[in-house]
Amino acid sequence: MPNTKPAVASLGFPRIGARRELKFALESCWSGKSGAAELLDTAEHLRRKNWRLQQEKGIDVIPSNDFSLYDHVLDTAVMVGAIPQEYGWTGGDVSLETYFAMARGAQTSADDAGCGHAGHGRDVRALEMTKWFDTNYHYLVPELTEYQTFALSSTKPVDHYLEARALGIETRPVILGPVTFLKLAKARGSDFEPVTLLPRLLPVYTELLIRLHEAGAEWVQIDEPALVLDLTDDERAAFENAYDVLTKAVPALKLMLASYFGDLGDNAQTALNLPVAGLHFDLKRAPDALDGILAKAAPEQVLSLGVIDGRNIWRADLPALLERLRPVIEARGADKVQIAPSCSLLHVPIDVALETELDPELKSWLSFAVQKLEELSALARGLGGEAIDEALAAAGNALAARSRSPRVHNDAVAARLAAVSENDRKRKSRFSDRIALQRMKLGLPLFPTTTIGSFPQTSEVRKSRAAFNRGDLDRAAYDGFLQTETEKAIRFQEDIGLDVLVHGEFERNDMVQYFGEKLSGFAFTKHGWVQSYGSRYVRPPVIFGDVSRPAPMTVDWWRFAQSKTEKPVKGMLTGPVTILNWSFVRDDIPRSQTCAQIALAIRDEVVDLETAGAAIIQIDEAALREGLPLRKSEWKTYLDWAIDAFRLSSSGVADETQIHTHMCYSEFNDIIDAIAAMDTDVISIETSRSKMELLDVFTAFDYPSEIGPGVYDIHSPRIPATGEMTELLSLARKRLDDRQIWINPDCGLKTRGWAEVKPALVNMVEAAKALRG
Ligand code: GLN
Ligand code: ZN
Repeated sequence: MPNTKPAVASLGFPRIGARRELKFALESCWSGKSGAAELLDTAEHLRRKNWRLQQEKGIDVIPSNDFSLYDHVLDTAVMVGAIPQEYGWTGGDVSLETYFAMARGAQTSADDAGCGHAGHGRDVRALEMTKWFDTNYHYLVPELTEYQTFALSSTKPVDHYLEARALGIETRPVILGPVTFLKLAKARGSDFEPVTLLPRLLPVYTELLIRLHEAGAEWVQIDEPALVLDLTDDERAAFENAYDVLTKAVPALKLMLASYFGDLGDNAQTALNLPVAGLHFDLKRAPDALDGILAKAAPEQVLSLGVIDGRNIWRADLPALLERLRPVIEARGADKVQIAPSCSLLHVPIDVALETELDPELKSWLSFAVQKLEELSALARGLGGEAIDEALAAAGNALAARSRSPRVHNDAVAARLAAVSENDRKRKSRFSDRIALQRMKLGLPLFPTTTIGSFPQTSEVRKSRAAFNRGDLDRAAYDGFLQTETEKAIRFQEDIGLDVLVHGEFERNDMVQYFGEKLSGFAFTKHGWVQSYGSRYVRPPVIFGDVSRPAPMTVDWWRFAQSKTEKPVKGMLTGPVTILNWSFVRDDIPRSQTCAQIALAIRDEVVDLETAGAAIIQIDEAALREGLPLRKSEWKTYLDWAIDAFRLSSSGVADETQIHTHMCYSEFNDIIDAIAAMDTDVISIETSRSKMELLDVFTAFDYPSEIGPGVYDIHSPRIPATGEMTELLSLARKRLDDRQIWINPDCGLKTRGWAEVKPALVNMVEAAKALRG
């Protein structure tokens, strides 16, 4: 009997610790409460725990170097010595101080001590941060100059490989591939394509691979997720060049080249022709690619099949996978096949077993990182001929229960959605007619002033919420506290002369969670943290069923705030696309359908706010752009249903009711038609750091509606002077009609303190007055 059991590979395990150990260790270190040694200790402990856990779960190929203190792209930049000059690095090992300065910026005085501070004064900015592909993980963007040189400046991959080996655990080191690294980097100083630096970068990768081989590694996993992006011919050629050089330089070392987050599409031929020993594919995102891969891959290549979803939290259909994989093993032989999660498990929470308060039925449908490893290991045993009846039955039952469950399916929601017509997504009249009515009703001055919604979430606010959640503060006392805060905010806004007020969002923990907790079809975890960046983790809601709104969610707070003032108070909601994009979503219906369900719930809230008397309602879509697919060819489909959902949420009101939306820093150049199609009356955007250049596209498009270009950067504690804001506004006036312009900060003020917010907003109102003359 030939062996039919494939190896199980893990591409990466969450590094944060099941109890967020890494976060606490980092923050304690940064605040000087503990030293670097304690941090490094925690890190080592976490690595050991993860390796042992994976070993216990029967994982054959265990990764090392998937751990990072902050970010694996930053680790790679440091490893190749791509450290911008201002960090003062002069070669040799890169200190923790430099590493964290790149990650977070540094402002230290000469007597600072503690974590990573070498004790000399410095003041440097952090590297820019951006989204890792289409995930909510953010990486630090490497900066390279045209004359960039590279040198192996960290042996972390080798060190971690040896660390595991000393524990008796053989690992497959993971490194970020050179082409993806360059593709993610940005050019600094002059305009050039970073990928042209490849010939200078490859010797460093060669040196690293030699060292890994000398240390004893048989395989190295080299991640090239850029293979699922739209690439130029030069970029495809860079892949060919890179792997030709690397495989020739270290022929005895086997490379497992991993792509994930999508289909290889027009890069498939390039990828399959690379002379590497193994290839990993994301078969969750691209299930139909398997046949082509099997037909084209060289017979001696090891294929790693990413069949378990590394991006979502649903239990897998093990019986179906078993059937699907069996013929593959038969055809290729078990020694040429590995089974794996679709990508690193970095993007899912760690262990569902910790969720002791979650409804047991719902819990039985979920699979976090630990459970995903168990699923893979069961699958491999099943393929190997062992009886795995129990695992198959459990998976099959969970799936069957889920597909019939009344928790999941709500006929009323389905019926309502089926009855939605094009008219439900249309305002009654055109913008030009609506705005005339709104201007009459609102009677606002030229250049109306407002804010984006939230006011400082002070430690007092957060403490009260925590006390309420613990049960130490009762509902009445908590509500009383929130009312006082809200009323103070209203008084303040009136006093300084803002035109359109907000209630301040003191009652909200988070702009998505607040709504999710009030909607049916959402569940929340206690420990389901996922790294967003550095020591910041998020706990995305789980959308498990048809979404509906049992009762109004914001009307009482709006009514309370409006009762305290004659000025208009904006109703404040999070939009359907943003709620969707920041949640784990169902995999049994299309995303677009869940989005439309959320849209209907928000629509009801919008109408209820209007009925209560709100003349202006803002529907935030901070994550609309974030949701764009990786491939441009798929943008239109996404934008079509996303904009449809927004319109469905916003079109239930009368012409006189003014609909606002807000979007954070957004490059609108390539999606301005979609933004216009949202047909809002007012959009506020983050523009202060772009010197209003982001408005050019609105001008060019002849964008009809009103716009609030942010005039102050809320990410910085700096208080902008009136003059700075009038300066920015004069740039805006060159691009927009005066009647189109609103004056507001870049975004919500929840992360700032009142000491900054008060004078900044006073200055902002002054700027408006100056403009009005
Ligand atoms: N209304 C929200 C706030 O002011 C908007 C935040 C956002 O778009 N990120 O906080
Ligand atoms: Zn924003």
